[in-house]
Amino acid sequence: MTDRYGAFAASALGRRLTGALGLPQPVELRRHAPGEPVLHGSVLVLGAGPAAADARTLLASWGLEVADAPREGARLAGVVACFDDAAAPGDLGETVLQIGGALRSLGASSRVVTVSVDPEAAAEPAVRAARQGVQGLTRSLAQEMRRGGTANGIVLGEGVPLTAPGAAGALAFLLSGRSAYVSGQFLPVTTRDGATPADAARPLAGKVAVVTGAARGIGAAIVRTLARDGAAVVGVDVPAAGESLAAVVNEVGGTALALDITAPEAGARILEHCRARHGRMDVVVHNAGITRDRMLANMDAARWDSVIAVNTASQLAMNEAFLADDARDVTGEGLRIIGLASISGIAGNRGQTNYAASKAGVIGLTAASAPALAARGGTINAVAPGFIETEMTAKIPLATREVGRRLNSLQQGGLPQDVAEAVAWFASDAAGGTNGATLRVCGQSKLGA
Ligand code: NAD
Repeated sequence: MTDRYGAFAASALGRRLTGALGLPQPVELRRHAPGEPVLHGSVLVLGAGPAAADARTLLASWGLEVADAPREGARLAGVVACFDDAAAPGDLGETVLQIGGALRSLGASSRVVTVSVDPEAAAEPAVRAARQGVQGLTRSLAQEMRRGGTANGIVLGEGVPLTAPGAAGALAFLLSGRSAYVSGQFLPVTTRDGATPADAARPLAGKVAVVTGAARGIGAAIVRTLARDGAAVVGVDVPAAGESLAAVVNEVGGTALALDITAPEAGARILEHCRARHGRMDVVVHNAGITRDRMLANMDAARWDSVIAVNTASQLAMNEAFLADDARDVTGEGLRIIGLASISGIAGNRGQTNYAASKAGVIGLTAASAPALAARGGTINAVAPGFIETEMTAKIPLATREVGRRLNSLQQGGLPQDVAEAVAWFASDAAGGTNGATLRVCGQSKLGA
């Protein structure tokens, strides 16, 4: 599970050798820790539309120093570049070139966040060209960022201001260490829904969150991160993983439910557990997942069916139970569901027809379920991890593993915490403006880019 090359490249000798040979030079990423500010240092705000003025107000309210131009010799921690008023491709140049002029002033693990308006809402070809252009330039810039820096975008729905809770929260998430392994991605904020949490350090205070596949790996990291953010956590895993499940939930004072999520009564069992032990259920994280890799020529029905059953069909069946009328006493208003997809579900992957079908299925069911959740004041979103350092990826043969690890803009694998941070973001009240979306946590993997 350890990235030996990454550790070597970070040493003095390693830096010299990898630099001389033009090899990848991954750096340790800035990750969120309790008490950390959104960013260390000042943030340059660019653009002349309403979003730039809003960005200045928001950043100042978070205690950050706002700059209007790069200053000679001064280090910048981030750039917020607003293109919300772009109405033709020719409108992009001035702000883009200003970003370019600031890049050399950026420190390690810096952030560029572009703010634009949904291209699909534009009927005018020139307006749409400008808005779509922002996505192209953001993705390219993400590939040019250095020393652990990232570039991402916020895509506002028509008429949604940057001060809407979902947009402001998205800006804080993308600037902070919570998005360490998110790069080249876009967070759509389509409505003004959502609410800014009373306590920024504990945005999930008072909430009850269910996490499936909680005994190890990414699931265990999600349990710890949701508990850190204030939630009471219910960990679910197969009976065979009972001991490690108990250890993980005991660490955070949560409760454990030994359950195979493919059982027909799984949704009802989870609701019953939440009703009896916690009195409510606010967040569900469908994290449990399996791989049964085989080239299609060697695939058998058992491998195909089990992957679809665990990774996709179980989510559909449980969601149906959670959205049924007789669950309302537990789920109340505002249920948040987060599914774990994968970039294999976007790009495909040799030997993974079953897994890719199951994870593309998660992206599809998430988008299609958004209206039903919205009708209940809730949201459903998915997180698609790229290469994450876990027991699952430690089993990949070395050469393939190294390709997966390096073939992304940050030149390293992500950590389970990186996926957990994105899940925690979607679970929070602040993320209420985003529904039916899939966010990649992949370091801008070149797969499916
Ligand atoms: P993991 O294999 O380490 O852990 C998965 C957990 O799910 C295990 O504890 C397992 O017991 C549990 N589980 C499996 N089947 C279950 C069932 N029927 N009922 C209840 N629990 C069950 O996996 P991980 O690497 O931590 O991955 C977590 C999720 O993230 C999965 O959905 C996976 O597909 C996805 N993902 C992982 C990566 C990666 O790089 N590790 C990349 C993309 C997506």
